[in-house]
Amino acid sequence: MSLNVVIFGAPGSGKGTQSIMIAEKFGLKHLSTGDLLRAEQEKGSELGQKIAGFTSQGNLVPDALIIDMLANVLDEQPADTGFIFDGFPRTVAQAQALKEMLAKRNKGVSIMLDLMVDEKELVERLLNRGLTSGRADDNEETIQRRIQVYHSKTAPVKDFYKQEGLSTDIAGSGAIDEIFARICAAIETV
Ligand code: AMP
Repeated sequence: MSLNVVIFGAPGSGKGTQSIMIAEKFGLKHLSTGDLLRAEQEKGSELGQKIAGFTSQGNLVPDALIIDMLANVLDEQPADTGFIFDGFPRTVAQAQALKEMLAKRNKGVSIMLDLMVDEKELVERLLNRGLTSGRADDNEETIQRRIQVYHSKTAPVKDFYKQEGLSTDIAGSGAIDEIFARICAAIETV
């Protein structure tokens, strides 16, 4: 069975950075819903404008839209592709949908990595990123809202994976390479 990794954590926890490295080392397809949404917004399509209404405020895009988008991407990949899911699932409904989508393809989530970073460090990292990222949502007000949404809507996803016996905590502070080494050690137990 293919390796399917979910990388989890608050905004600014380093999911994107680590996902790129994980994808390369383990030969996985990197699927970032944030990147997919930003690509749609850059097209300036009607759908992109609708999406921007949510992301620019730090709110989640509706589950149905994200789940459809992801199902389309999964369908485009060869059957034996392994994935790293970055920024998805962000709600328990999405976690359930992912389980069903993968089960239909005789697959499942292999491991969920929770990148744990102190809140103060998260805000500092996001404000710093905002200086160069050009992301409309990397400003102080939206950062606070994204962290609030993370606690209310996304944190319960961890319990979902705990119940499945798939959740692993990863200390997310320190050098990028050190964090990556912890992640690799966890993935190698699968
Ligand atoms: P990210 O790049 O993962 O930080 O995502 C940026 C923004 O895109 C988030 O603040 C949400 O508004 C939206 N977004 C990304 N992934 C999801 C998701 N799985 N469900 C709902 N909204 C999402």
